Amino acid sequence: MQTSTYKIKGMHCASCAISIEDTLKKTPGVTEVSVNYGTEAAKVSFDDTSITPVQLSAKIEPLGYSLIAPDKGQMAGMDHAKMEAEDELSEMRRKVFSMMPFAIISVAIMILDLLVSLKYIPEMSPTLETFLHHLLPVMATTTLAVLGRPYLMGIYRFLRYGKANMDTLIGIGTSAAFLYSFTLGAFENVLSPYLDVKAAYYDVTIVVLVFIALGKYLELRSKQKTGDAIEKLLSLQAKKALVFRSGKELEIPMEEVVHDDLIIVKPAEKIPVDGEIIEGSTYIDESMISGEPMPVKKNVGDSVVSGTINTTGAFTFRATKIGSETMLARIIQMVEDAQGSKAPIQALADKISAVFVPIVLALAFLALGAWLIIAPQYIGFAKALSSGLVSFVGILVIACPCALGLATPTAIIVGVGKGAREGILVKDAATLETLHKANVVVLDKTGTITKGKPELASVMNFSGKSDEEMLSVLASLEKKSEHPIAHAIVTHAAEHKIVLSEVKDFQAIKGKGIEGNIGGVLYFAGNTKLVADLHVPFDTAALIEETKKGKTPIILATKEKVLGVVMVADAVKPEAIVAIAHLHKLGIKTVLLTGDDRNTAEAIAKEVGIDDVVAEVLPEDKLNKVKELQSRGLIVAMAGDGVNDAPALAQANVGIAMATGTDVAIESAGITLLHGDIAKLVKAIELSRVTMRTIKQNLFWAFIYNIIGIPLAGGAFYPFFGWLLSPIFAGLAMAFSSVSVVTNSLRLKTTKL
Ligand code: ADP
Ligand code: MG
Repeated sequence: MQTSTYKIKGMHCASCAISIEDTLKKTPGVTEVSVNYGTEAAKVSFDDTSITPVQLSAKIEPLGYSLIAPDKGQMAGMDHAKMEAEDELSEMRRKVFSMMPFAIISVAIMILDLLVSLKYIPEMSPTLETFLHHLLPVMATTTLAVLGRPYLMGIYRFLRYGKANMDTLIGIGTSAAFLYSFTLGAFENVLSPYLDVKAAYYDVTIVVLVFIALGKYLELRSKQKTGDAIEKLLSLQAKKALVFRSGKELEIPMEEVVHDDLIIVKPAEKIPVDGEIIEGSTYIDESMISGEPMPVKKNVGDSVVSGTINTTGAFTFRATKIGSETMLARIIQMVEDAQGSKAPIQALADKISAVFVPIVLALAFLALGAWLIIAPQYIGFAKALSSGLVSFVGILVIACPCALGLATPTAIIVGVGKGAREGILVKDAATLETLHKANVVVLDKTGTITKGKPELASVMNFSGKSDEEMLSVLASLEKKSEHPIAHAIVTHAAEHKIVLSEVKDFQAIKGKGIEGNIGGVLYFAGNTKLVADLHVPFDTAALIEETKKGKTPIILATKEKVLGVVMVADAVKPEAIVAIAHLHKLGIKTVLLTGDDRNTAEAIAKEVGIDDVVAEVLPEDKLNKVKELQSRGLIVAMAGDGVNDAPALAQANVGIAMATGTDVAIESAGITLLHGDIAKLVKAIELSRVTMRTIKQNLFWAFIYNIIGIPLAGGAFYPFFGWLLSPIFAGLAMAFSSVSVVTNSLRLKTTKL
């Protein structure tokens, strides 16, 4: 089984995505397919023993598309894809602008004719008139030859395979206008008693094709801009690395770096891969990865990540993660996946696009039929036929589901890319969509609201021995723990040069504390719950005063008695207060969820302004609390440090992981906020709101335009107001609709969060 993403060549419209998806899905050996018009790519899962990518590509070739194999090296692949995209764009530009004069001349002739018929200007000399009206078929034929190919192919595929897409519609529309005009001209003498042989529509063919091509060109140009976030991330990647191998410094391409290579980084250079400093120290600018503007101090033992930039120091580090394992590579992969994923809101647009083409074809014939049956008795057959043709062509041209297909993916691409640049990593489009509906945010305390770097505040000693001895036991135990509290105590001990002892049988007691054996005595360290479990006499009243100030007690005890209590204080992140206020302004309820002491939690909640507190919960109960909120019909976003909160993060409608430092568990949560910045939580919610708003605007305009455009082009308003949309305006509207949707999505880029 294999899952790969292939770029697709020849995709012109949303309905293309649907028909490619359908065709590939029906292919034996293929289990899953998702085609995205925004990224012009297909993600295919298939059994690689029964079918090859080449065979897959062959399946869609009759439809006019092909798959482009993914390149192995990401850099090379992107450069290549970019070059191809640029080639395609410049070819389109050349074609469009070479045909532009024809469109201008056609419109000028149209205006002249109109002015003459309104008697604003005198009749043209017969020579000039004849010349101009013989020029039109020449220009139309040229335009059709230069710009019409994909559309004529659309007709061919329709006739040969019975598959129609929007190219087919435009092809039928423009060539119908052409053939009708040709017939009038060719059989002028025979037809003149019955038809208005002067009413040729070569100009329709010319102008519509040029407008559509212009629209496609502008659309492609903007569409390429929607995806530039990935390009920016890729440009962070160093191309070469200076490694130290067998006693020599050697400059090698980035791809040749292997694990445990020693890499030398000089001032102002990019870090090529992830690793750990073994010599030297420096400040590193990690803003491109974390959004944190200040360079970060790095010493021996600290980790560095690829794509960040060394400032003035020089150092050597050991490569621990290379190639696709590096954080930058994973971020790029995640952004790419998210941009290519489908938002649930797109399902409706997809369903409509899928049935759009046959329905539009039917409507076009229906309109033509209606004109021919109903209209002749009022306006005569000649006028009815030409009006019917105008309707027929108009409907085919205006009713492109392009804008519909672009509405969601372009906004998602821009939204996800914008997030990435702000240090907000979104896993998929569905997450971004759900987040805008969130009405309650559950926040983990340690590391989310507080700095997660508690410091020892005070010591109560009941052991009968010196403070130092009591702290030595506690610190020895905590040395084995990973909890931030433990870190506070160990650091304190180290600073005061307290000697530690060896611990045996160490164990963590989930949500309560730890235990371990020192010199044959079993010690426990943890919260009041732990002491209650031990049934040793202890009056927690002694702690109230301190816990009410937001400090956390760590009680050291044996099975017989409590030896001492250490209070640690974890300062609130100043930006948390602002962020909570902001969340409330957005109409979102906040809940603090923590395993910590109730008084402590309430004090912290009060300090930052959180509505509700759920304290002293075990990790599994965090999950239940989220479930309970959901059962009340709330949409829950949960922000946590992603380590012990993982089950609750997974249960929440949107799990938001606060990544601290360089350790990013980006796969575990729906959204990852780099650098553990809670201010970004608000930004993430706003990002999802503006993205969804953009999508809804796009969908609205795309729908409304078809809802009004089709009946207008079909002549439904003609009997009442005499309105009949010229196919030329239909072409203009169609080009405009896609361009406006993409432009609206691009606007997201500059929206302030
Ligand atoms: P939280 O992440 O909300 O702090 P935890 O489940 O990690 O939740 O911890 C719950 C409580 O258990 C802590 O607030 C602390 O009182 C106690 N605890 C956990 N680990 C330790 C430890 N290593 N030393 C002392 N107390 C601990
Ligand atoms: Mg925690």
